[in-house]
Amino acid sequence: MSMTIFYRIYDNLYVNITNKCPCECVFCVRRCSDGVHGSQSLWLDREPDIREIKAEFDRLDLGGLAGIVFCGFGEPMERASDIIELCRYFKSKWSLPIRINTNGLVRLIHPGFDMQDLSEADSVSVSLNADDAEEYLRLTRSRFGLRSYGAMLDFARDAKKYVRVGFSVVGVLEPWRIENCRKIAEEFGVPLRVR
Ligand code: SF4
Repeated sequence: MSMTIFYRIYDNLYVNITNKCPCECVFCVRRCSDGVHGSQSLWLDREPDIREIKAEFDRLDLGGLAGIVFCGFGEPMERASDIIELCRYFKSKWSLPIRINTNGLVRLIHPGFDMQDLSEADSVSVSLNADDAEEYLRLTRSRFGLRSYGAMLDFARDAKKYVRVGFSVVGVLEPWRIENCRKIAEEFGVPLRVR
């Protein structure tokens, strides 16, 4: 356990503010490691509050960074309103592009979430994960059940009105499913990244 809020991977600064997540993906890195790319443990002793996050950000040396990514060891949008506030704060201090990596289930987690707030970030990477609802649920084991897939797609569609959107899938999918995912991404008019 630790309090690693910020960590660097290459030239990006990653922000880890929650370990909560409504999913339990079969491929989640948390199942086999305490961190990523040689980071300290990303399991948090407790969730840092906004004041602590801002204070730690202010102490960072941001030289050489190309961007800020909300990612974390969990689903960052579990703390959606804090993330939006942090986007505003980071931008007021440093003009780096901000990306939110998300499973796209924020409107199931926080039904009142205002999608317009996403415009505080520069881009959102949504985990598409699968080409249909059954496969999605098999892989993610989302606590919201089968409706999760449709909610994630709706999120991506609506998010496009406010922010740049990309999809990602994990390379554990069969090639024909990845091909289907490519078609879905094309229909949405967004890029697909296979990780
Ligand atoms: S949504 Fe992300 S953090 Fe949550 S279980 Fe899946 S891979 Fe892990």
